[in-house]
Amino acid sequence: MQTIDNFNFAGKKAFVRVDFNVPVDENFNITDDTRIRGALPTLKKILADGGSVIIASHMGRPKKNPDAKYSLKHIVAHVSAKLGVDVKFVDDCAKAAEACAALKPGEALLLENLRFYAEEEGKPRGLAEDATDEEKAAAKKAIKASQKEFAKLLASYADCYVNDAFGTAHRAHASTALIADYFDADHKMFGYLMNQEVLAIEKIMTDTARPFTAIMGGSKVSSKIEIIENLLTKVDNLIIAGGMTYTFTKALGGKIGNSICEDDKLDLALGLLEKAKANNVKMVLAVDAKIADAFSNDANTKFVNVDEIPDGWEGMDIGPKTEAIFADVIKNSKTILWNGPTGVFEFDNFTSGSRAVADAIVEATKNGAFSLVGGGDSVACVNKFGVADKVSYVSTGGGALLEAIEGLVLPGIAAIKG
Ligand code: AMP
Repeated sequence: MQTIDNFNFAGKKAFVRVDFNVPVDENFNITDDTRIRGALPTLKKILADGGSVIIASHMGRPKKNPDAKYSLKHIVAHVSAKLGVDVKFVDDCAKAAEACAALKPGEALLLENLRFYAEEEGKPRGLAEDATDEEKAAAKKAIKASQKEFAKLLASYADCYVNDAFGTAHRAHASTALIADYFDADHKMFGYLMNQEVLAIEKIMTDTARPFTAIMGGSKVSSKIEIIENLLTKVDNLIIAGGMTYTFTKALGGKIGNSICEDDKLDLALGLLEKAKANNVKMVLAVDAKIADAFSNDANTKFVNVDEIPDGWEGMDIGPKTEAIFADVIKNSKTILWNGPTGVFEFDNFTSGSRAVADAIVEATKNGAFSLVGGGDSVACVNKFGVADKVSYVSTGGGALLEAIEGLVLPGIAAIKG
């Protein structure tokens, strides 16, 4: 497989798919430029080699072309400042051949939002609400055919293809996957960010040092079933935390008061416990909880056994006994995956469990464990606690990471790796 470090970009035009889907305020000021900063090493390497970059991204979910609200023109100045070159801009990504051809070594060009074209995602747009199944199928077939043409057009702008957009690696879109078909194997590669993500996933899923512990938190079992089922074939310990705790507790006959619970998933929870037993996986469940008499930071609180929560009270975080049990398992692990907080960490009075998990992960990492934190709120947790740089890797891709740990093949990765 070609790598960015082994490729000399001198005199070459590189089509670089990045994830510049950054949040902006009502005046189009970028409120968090993490994603732009994440792609800089790749862009800078290409420019330093004497190559030129055609930067391509999506932003938001536009439904038409053009859609001013989602224009990438608003970020040109910021990207220029960060990259240290005057980035040019083309306001139609499907009419950029001339501008790309004119690019000189060391120059950078940003294309307008790829999703202004329905072909990027390959999903039909503008179908009548009462469209028949035949009409839907015909529209789907048509857009799939024009999606390939769109990918071919984008590919024609450049000599080589670099994918640094891990955030969209789980999508088989024109610029994230299909485009790779139009480059030889030695002219397509991951960017640095994508490469780090792929290596981190491999360390968790295939090249795993043991014991391997996953901490699954968050609100619902239903949104994590596939992930938990796949992890039960991989991990040594599976810690269940967060709101989904109470579905397990109730399934086991405990009293959970007003705690969040999915009553239609009680059998599923018991099935997962059975599967864990059959696979020799230690399921680690909470034994106590910090409960509150309202879903509020200012509610009255107390600690109780997790299966003795009175009516009118709800579990908002794990209790101190559970913190100690979880920390012990985590500190004795060599590979750690953390997805989802142990409680309602947005309220300061219910962060203690998540903080204890974060601290234990930091300590295990200091002692040589590999730790990967990813998927939405656990990333917010490590940032809130100021420990993001004390774990081995914090993933930038929510959905993409979750699909990878579900065991799915990510089209953006497969397009380059084969
Ligand atoms: P998820 O998106 O599934 O990872 O869920 C994250 C959300 O779960 C966060 O907003 C937490 O506040 C919420 N959460 C965690 N524990 C609880 C709990 N015990 N009760 C209600 N919500 C919870």
